[in-house]
Amino acid sequence: MAMVRPMSTLPGARRKLELFSPQTLARIGEFEVATAQDVKAAVEAARKAQPAWAALPFAKRAEYIQRAMQILLQKQDEYIEIVLRETGKARSEAIMMEVYACLDVMHYYSKRAEKILKPRKLKLHGVMSLLKKASVIYKPRGVVGVISPWNGPVILALNPTIQALMAGNTVVLKPSEVTPFSGKIVYDMLAEAGIPSGVMNIVLGDGETGAALTKADVDKIAFTGSVATGRKVAMACAEKLIPCTLELGGKDPMIVCEDADLDIAAAGAVVGSLMNTGHYCCGTERIYVVDSVADAFLEKVVERVKQMRQGDQGEYDVGAVFWEKQMDIIEAHMVDAVKKGAKVLIGGKRNAKLKGLYFEPTVITDLTHDMDIIREETFGPIVAILRVKDEEEALRMANDTRFGLGANVWSRDSEKASALACRIDSGSACVNDMTMTFGVPEAPFGGRKESGVGQVNGETGLRGYCHAQPIIVDRHGGKMILQHYPYTAKKDEDMKKAMQFFWGTTFGRWFS
Ligand code: NAD
Repeated sequence: MAMVRPMSTLPGARRKLELFSPQTLARIGEFEVATAQDVKAAVEAARKAQPAWAALPFAKRAEYIQRAMQILLQKQDEYIEIVLRETGKARSEAIMMEVYACLDVMHYYSKRAEKILKPRKLKLHGVMSLLKKASVIYKPRGVVGVISPWNGPVILALNPTIQALMAGNTVVLKPSEVTPFSGKIVYDMLAEAGIPSGVMNIVLGDGETGAALTKADVDKIAFTGSVATGRKVAMACAEKLIPCTLELGGKDPMIVCEDADLDIAAAGAVVGSLMNTGHYCCGTERIYVVDSVADAFLEKVVERVKQMRQGDQGEYDVGAVFWEKQMDIIEAHMVDAVKKGAKVLIGGKRNAKLKGLYFEPTVITDLTHDMDIIREETFGPIVAILRVKDEEEALRMANDTRFGLGANVWSRDSEKASALACRIDSGSACVNDMTMTFGVPEAPFGGRKESGVGQVNGETGLRGYCHAQPIIVDRHGGKMILQHYPYTAKKDEDMKKAMQFFWGTTFGRWFS
């Protein structure tokens, strides 16, 4: 069973998928899977619309995004219901991640894209500065394919889309088949805001549709999802020689130093591990706590987890597991850990009191690095705690992973913690906070090792939706080109003298 299942259709008819609520297990809808032909048509529409969209001033493009923001503000309750129906996440998480973060992103890029993407003068060095002037202009790449996952079904579809649009690209979005209608909110808001036809396009479907998009006539793919799919996307993009960003899975470590404020660190461990039912790419998946404070820390964590309310109605803190496939992974990791000697302090199984897909908020300890729960992405509501001798051991173990997305370090001495954080092989790191980087649009965000390729967000991310084209202008109207030929022994000698002057003398090196 899964939350998305194939439906039987008549021979020759389009493939359909059925959706089921993770909260109630009841059927909640169905949709047709877009074919490669549909994808081709969407990309063609995007291609056709792109030049006129790129020709609009930034302010005009921003108007559409800002209008969509107002629609999101007005319709947020309706949209939240769609997200809750498909994901079963806690309502507050839907508000935080799928509304608040979306508004922030839309406002941030619509307000700042012009400044970030305006042509930049390059300051040239040495003799080159006497000969040439240079600037860089940021040209949209063209059509961007956005492929998004189910865990942040609106924000992870919207964030790349808004950046690509503000940079002057048109977009074809393929949201996850687990949460298609949450992803479609992005399209609906922009369409209702009156964005010109063909600028924003959506194709609903599963992996086949996503694969078709990577093979279609697009100029860049912005992919967020698993490592396994990321590899396939990278290979498809390599075939076509187009760029892609790959935002992939993580196994974020948290280090609790001896001098950490244990109440704050325990709260951070619980939020980092349980938020969004643990389905958070930068969720805390492994906690290394220094032995001298481990007992006190564990006690505080268990106490907090005991207070967590899990539910499907009213106010609750921990929602459903979004789909059955993830439940299978969580359960398999738990079984493997317990079999190898781990100790469950609280939770550890499905919540039998609730009808839907619920895994109890869990604290597990006595873990080792040969367990799947430490080596693979678990993506569940699990606080996984390991004792370490000291901070150096914590660091070694934190880096003992094939992932490298986020990390966090907790200590009263934030300078020491920052120094430790710098030594973690991760895309980003936080001190005395759960991994927040994605929520800070100024910060470039991306994974190292198997957690991804390229960076999104901020100046780096926005410029990644453009080709940075340098324009070099000769200061002397090109006259020097007349001197290029013929090559002579005298010119070679002059060149040698110049090199000796520029890099063989103190003054020359200063000038160069
Ligand atoms: P997934 O890789 O299964 O699917 C992601 C998307 O890719 C879906 O839309 C899917 O239909 C599509 N897809 C599947 N096969 C494809 C193919 N061959 N070609 C193109 N597209 C294809 O991932 P998921 O299970 O939806 O998402 C969860 C994963 O995403 C987790 O590993 C999580 O850590 C990761 N994630 C990473 C970030 C980040 O920013 N690094 C953010 C959120 C989620």
